[in-house]
Amino acid sequence: PLPAIKGDVKFDNIIFEYEKDRPALKGISIDVKAGQSIALVGHTGSGKSTIINLLCRFYDPVQGRVLIDGTDIRDVSIESLRSQVGIVLQDTFIFAGTIRDNIRYGRLDATDAETEDAAKAVHAHDFIMSLPDGYETEVEERGNVLSMGQRQLLSFARALLANPQILILDEATASIDTETELKIQEALKILLAGRTSFMIAHRLSTIRHADDIIVLDHGKIVEQGNHETL
Ligand code: ATP
Ligand code: MG
Repeated sequence: PLPAIKGDVKFDNIIFEYEKDRPALKGISIDVKAGQSIALVGHTGSGKSTIINLLCRFYDPVQGRVLIDGTDIRDVSIESLRSQVGIVLQDTFIFAGTIRDNIRYGRLDATDAETEDAAKAVHAHDFIMSLPDGYETEVEERGNVLSMGQRQLLSFARALLANPQILILDEATASIDTETELKIQEALKILLAGRTSFMIAHRLSTIRHADDIIVLDHGKIVEQGNHETL
């Protein structure tokens, strides 16, 4: 078992470039207390995904540090980092297999009851039960058994089951009907509770959930505040 973490996250004056002399982040500092949710907003190319890439250690900063509970993440094993930092991606990753296996991805030890409890908590259980074989329904990677909204709920169930202390959410831009949207917002509340989260948010309804909103432009923070102050 890996040591439990609190979930404080700090970006300490980060400079990063993918290509020499073309900085994608130009001195980013963000201080997040455990349990807070941060929305990252800004135009395309402003640096939102790059911030996430550094937190996941897909890349290391050119200058500055990323700290979790005060420890530079370069000093943490990748295995430990992966178990602490969970990601819900934009193109929700579905693989060929049953719905159950898709939820248990990353938590293969989870029991049926645990799997179904996670699905219930994020309001995915009902639509799963309406499928021909319920949790045993086979889905395909690019198949169209599931709508975008259903894929999203499924990925929430997966994240809830994996239970990382720090959660990253790259929100889909695709339009979703109002009813599903409401479900997703409720599920999101449950998913975010008690975790530190970073959301690349496109929908106003999601941004509203954030304790802190960070507006990026050309690799810099140009505004920061909450829904009321911005
Ligand atoms: P979007 O809303 O389009 O997803 P973003 O805010 O996530 O945009 P980033 O992907 O962080 O933006 O990109 C920041 C800058 O880094 C951009 O100028 C982009 O062209 C550049 N960039 C991103 N990924 C790479 C890469 N793999 N190689 C080179 N440059 C990259
Ligand atoms: Mg991006």
